This record gives sequence, structure tokens and C-alpha cells, in this order.
Amino acid sequence: MALTIHTDHLIVGSGIAGLMLAHKLGQTQKVVIIAKESLSENNSRYAQGGIASVLSPEDSFEKHIEDTLEAGAGLCHRDVVQAVVEAGPAAIAELISLGVDFTRGKGGKGQEGQPYHLTLEGGHSERRIIHADDLTGAEVVRALGVAIRMNPNITIYENMFAIDLITSDKVRPIFSKNYCLGAYAYNRDSREIYEIRSHATHLCAGGHGKVYLYTSNPDVATGDGLAMGWRAGCRVANLEFMQFHPTCLYSQKEKTFLISEAVRGEGAILKTADGKPFMQNYHPLESLAPRDIVARAIDSEIKKSNVPYVYLDARGIGLDKIKARFPNIYKVCLSQGIDMATDMIPVVPAAHFSCGGLVTDADGRTSITNLFAIGEVACTGLHGANRLASNSLLEALVIAGRVANYIAQHGIEDAPELPSTPWRSTGAIEPDELVVLTHTWDEIRRMMWNYVGIVRSDKRLQRAYAKIVAIRQELETFYWENQIDVSLLEVRNLADVAFLTIRCALKRKESRGIHFNIDYPETIDNPAPSDTVIW
Ligand SMILES: Cc1cc2nc3c(=O)[nH]c(=O)nc-3n(C[C@H](O)[C@H](O)[C@H](O)COP(=O)(O)OP(=O)(O)OC[C@H]3O[C@@H](n4cnc5c(N)ncnc54)[C@H](O)[C@@H]3O)c2cc1C
Repeated sequence: MALTIHTDHLIVGSGIAGLMLAHKLGQTQKVVIIAKESLSENNSRYAQGGIASVLSPEDSFEKHIEDTLEAGAGLCHRDVVQAVVEAGPAAIAELISLGVDFTRGKGGKGQEGQPYHLTLEGGHSERRIIHADDLTGAEVVRALGVAIRMNPNITIYENMFAIDLITSDKVRPIFSKNYCLGAYAYNRDSREIYEIRSHATHLCAGGHGKVYLYTSNPDVATGDGLAMGWRAGCRVANLEFMQFHPTCLYSQKEKTFLISEAVRGEGAILKTADGKPFMQNYHPLESLAPRDIVARAIDSEIKKSNVPYVYLDARGIGLDKIKARFPNIYKVCLSQGIDMATDMIPVVPAAHFSCGGLVTDADGRTSITNLFAIGEVACTGLHGANRLASNSLLEALVIAGRVANYIAQHGIEDAPELPSTPWRSTGAIEPDELVVLTHTWDEIRRMMWNYVGIVRSDKRLQRAYAKIVAIRQELETFYWENQIDVSLLEVRNLADVAFLTIRCALKRKESRGIHFNIDYPETIDNPAPSDTVIW
């Protein structure tokens, strides 16, 4: 039986980027959207803080643009920043029209007609973060999920893991252009591999926090889209700029839970493992210093004390305010035996958001014809060398809209008729070999944490480079000799992402934004800074 699916649009990923794009394209065209796990498991649903947009009369596009450029430390693409910021209010209005229940008024959900509550986050000069309590991402994903499930033009495949893109270069090279023709995907339930042929393919596969030992990202964030795009020939950029969130819950059971910056905004203080405040030694704003500085300070204190965490002391906020403002954080901490009102919270910095990714323009177009990339997998130039808090959900929404508009205006370029190329399976993986994969996965994540983490040096990066070259060689042999398995696919992708990240970090001979190398502590503005692009 031929396992081939034909569609107008293949969307890989069901986070906020993939869902919004499916909703838009599905108004007029046939869409297949695939997710490697359930439709609702993605980074987007864990977003707590909210979405940045100019929504109050005190605020202005200019201020939001300036704040974004300031955070981006000289590497943002101004035209993209302007396009995204100016499209923000319409994107939020669209979410509201789709039923997203943003928090109203000052003290929680208000009645109809009341203004939406806007919160403030680090780096923003005005209150402009619209949110749904501390569960913004989950609420947006819920509403978009409802909209796309009701649309008969959209077919959803859950547990469908995209393996690689199908391109004309691979099927029959044309030389003048490389067209994307779709993707191979592994159905985890039936264990079959599908050839999905599409006029346009959209990578909305999210980030790759899982390449690091500690991360705020869920297990799905293994950089599959980035690795697939690169293997197919896309340009990638700026992967050295991995944003480390300073405060993830340190827990053996709850591996990826974030303690929002807003908790420090309400007065929580960082303390060493023996209970002494330390941020006064690093920055005048102490616990409210910019994220990268807080992350480096915690990293330094952890190395000094040899205890794998520091504490966040939120006891001064008081039980009532904690429960009202951070209901979910309070609940999760409590489930781990930590009462925020009486106990200090052990925290550790963790890989959180990738500013780099597949290079696209402001319409999501990659360097491969008919291949688009949207959301965290992409590098549009919005974030530069450091992301302004809550700009990422905004980017995913706006660029999804721009891709749909671009396609409505220009259509999809006709690709040459090329024969179907069903997947050919190889051998079988023995269970003991799967254990080896787990070890390799662990080796990559520890190596990235220790050598390509918050504070870098050339020596550590070179050591990491030598290791990842060897790991990739080993994995490549393994990949071609064995039958497809999700752990094999993920570890292969993680190895590619690690390789690309190390290469980017080695190329940048300065410290800028969230990339800090002790061998080049200065930021160099002459000659003018540029993106790190890998072909
Ligand atoms: C804890 C946390 C809090 C955050 N808070 C905020 C915030 O308050 N504001 C903000 O702006 N940003 C926040 N961010 C960042 C933001 O959530 C992400 O950047 C954004 O959600 C990315 O959306 P996305 O659609 O690109 O990817 P995701 O939401 O990660 O979705 C990726 C999708 O791709 C699918 N996928 C991946 N690989 C494959 C494959 N091989 N085959 C098939 N499907 C695949 C996944 O299953 C998933 O459906 C936060 C991130 C985290 C982790």
C-alpha cells in the first residue's frame, strides 16, 4: 500500500505558529498539520508571561521598537522589528475574536468592556504584556485548537513525526533552484513512514532547549525542524544566542518548570544555597537585573558553592498575593513539597529560547523554494542577539499572518513534476542499542551545558566541537543501518543542532547580547556587527 498523502500545505508543528498558520491557510486551502505528539504538546502551551504588544494609550510603536532593538544588542533587523511590532494589535484582536480569554482589569478577570490587564516585564519601558493569568500559552493554544478542529479543510495528524524534507535536490537535482516537495513522516502509532507531498511546506517545529541538560522546554523541543531544514540546504543563523532563563525550578521530578520573572518583579530575592542575597554583587538592579546577567550570576554562584542550585525567596510577597498572581506556579511548587509562602524555591538557569534558527525573510521564506519557517525554528532578525521578553509569541502570530498573506498575493511557485519517492526501510534496532542512544543523548546535553553554556571560552567550544564531530559520525552510521525509531531521530537532530550551535559560537569573536565568551569579553561595533550565518 502506498503511504502517500497529497495536500496544498503541510504544516510541521502545532504550537502557536503552526496553529495560527493552519487557521489562516485553512480558510481557502487544504492543509495537513502534523504534530510529533498530541496537538497541544508544544512550547507555546507553557508560555506563562504573555504576549507583548502596544495596547495602551501611554505606549507607542516607537517605544516597543526601541525596547526590542535595545534588547537585541545591535543585531535586530529594524525592518522586521517594525513590521512585527506594528502588526501586534491586530494579531491580538484576532486572538480575542477567536475566543482567547485574556485577563481583564487590574485584579484578575473583569466584566465585559473592562480593559485588558497589561503587565510589565524586564526590558519593556511600558506595560504591554497581555496575558491570561499565568497560563497565556495554554489559553491561546486552546482557542486556536478549537478553531482548527472545526475547519473541514484542515486534517490533523497527531503522533506523526517529520523525519526529513523531500526536496528536488534529493529527488532529481534541477540545479537552478531547490524546491521543497513535502516531507517524510513517521506515524508513531502504526510505525509506518508516510511520504507527504505538498505544494508548500511550513516548518513550525519550535525550538531546541532539549540540547541542554537544564531547560524550561518540554520534551518535544529537540530542534527537529532546524535540523531538517539545515540538512535540506537552508541557511541557519545566530544559534550562539540561546537565552537562558535564570530561574527554572530545580527538582528531580519536575524537570522543566519555569518560575516566571514576574515573581522577582513582585519582590522575590535570589539567595545562595546558604541563604545569603548575592545579586548586589553583580548589578545595581539586584534580582531584577537583565536576564542574561542574572543567569551568569547564578551560574557563577553555583560553580563557587558546588551546590547545583540557588534559592529564590518569594516569602516576602505573602500568601494571598502569591495565590492571586501566580496560581499555577504556586500549585506546581506545592506539588513538589515547596510552599512559596514559607519555603525558598531552589532554582537553576535553564536553556529557554533560541534567538537563532533557519534564516527567513519577514514573510517566512527560507532559502529553499516553497519552504517557509515560522516561530522559534526561524531566525527572522526580530530578536537579534537577545530576545525582548514576550516578543516570541508575537513573532509567531504575526509571521504566520504574513506567510498567509504572501501566499494569497503571490501563490505558490510551480515545482517540477517529480516522481513519488516512498521511504525505504532498513534494519531493526536492538533494545541494547536503544540504551546506547540514551547515553549519547545524555552525553550531548551534558557537553552542551558544560562547554557551550552560559559562560563560554574558545577552549571549551573547541573541545565540544571535537566531541560533537565524533558523535555525529557515530550516529550517522547508526541511522542508516537501523530502522527508524523516535529516540534515534531525536538524538540525530539534537546532534545536528549542537554541531551548528558550536559552529556559530566559535565564529563569533566577541561577546554580545546573550553570547558571552571569556576570551572575547568585549562587544565590537567597528566593523558593524553582523549575523552569524552558516550555509
Ligand atoms: C516555559 C516557557 C515559557 C515561555 N513564556 C513565554 C511568554 O510568556 N511569552 C512569549 O512570547 N514566549 C514565551 N516562551 C517562548 C514561546 O513559548 C515559544 O517561543 C513559542 O511558543 C514557540 O512557538 P512555536 O509555534 O514556534 O513552537 P512550539 O510551540 O514549540 O511548537 C512546536 C510544534 O512542533 C512540533 N514538532 C516538533 N518537531 C516535530 C517533528 N519532527 N514532527 C512533527 N512535529 C514536530 C511539536 O510537536 C509542536 O507541536 C516561553 C517558552 C517556555 C518554554
